[in-house]
Amino acid sequence: MWQRIQTAVELIYPPRCLGCGELTESDFGLCGTCWRDTPFIGGLVCHSCGVPLPGEADGHRIECDDCMKTPRPWQDGRAALLYHGRARSLILALKHGDRPELARPAALWMARAGQGLFHDDMVIAPVPLHWSRLLRRRYNQSALLARHLGLQTGLDVCPDLLQRRVRTPVLDGKTAAERAETLSGSIAPHPRRLHRLQGRDVLLVDDVMTSGATLAACARVCLAAGANHIFVLALARVAKDA
Ligand SMILES: [Zn+2]
Ligand SMILES: [Zn+2]
Repeated sequence: MWQRIQTAVELIYPPRCLGCGELTESDFGLCGTCWRDTPFIGGLVCHSCGVPLPGEADGHRIECDDCMKTPRPWQDGRAALLYHGRARSLILALKHGDRPELARPAALWMARAGQGLFHDDMVIAPVPLHWSRLLRRRYNQSALLARHLGLQTGLDVCPDLLQRRVRTPVLDGKTAAERAETLSGSIAPHPRRLHRLQGRDVLLVDDVMTSGATLAACARVCLAAGANHIFVLALARVAKDA
């Protein structure tokens, strides 16, 4: 029955590439050209922040210089894409372009990148958006990614586990210290969701990880509220040299 509906849908809406709109063979994917042009992260990565590192993976835990200098308040982190080129335009379309259909394939890529992070009884929570931004954008792209990641992995999702109490200004162009200062106290667990994080591992989901300051603020409040271990998974990672 489902197969028949899907076939009918495909006849009306033939699968198109998410990057360029050309007809493709597989639904929810990219054409060969866009696939090649999309900077997927693979090979050796920093286990804390997911940034690609030179060399070959040998099964040992490795961290980048930044994460060794300033340890993250979470266990492990990964990202699916590097935030530039076609990946950047896909993410901007998801964020501002009203293209929520991108979240499903994006969550598939994240599920693949985050394979080692998933644990039984883990709860997935998105980085929260202030309600005033939510009104303007109509949806929280991180919550959408979290929901689809829940469908992919079968893990529990709590879309409002965390909330933003005050509207923080845009963090771009600020120093790490300024970002931390701006964020401190602005994010808190939802008082009615506390029981869902206590004693549990939490997987924080964000669309783009830049310095990691927002994810760090989220991780700290989860730990302070009694969460066990925190893991982070971003759709894309801004690399310093990218
Ligand atoms: Zn394409
Ligand atoms: Zn790192």
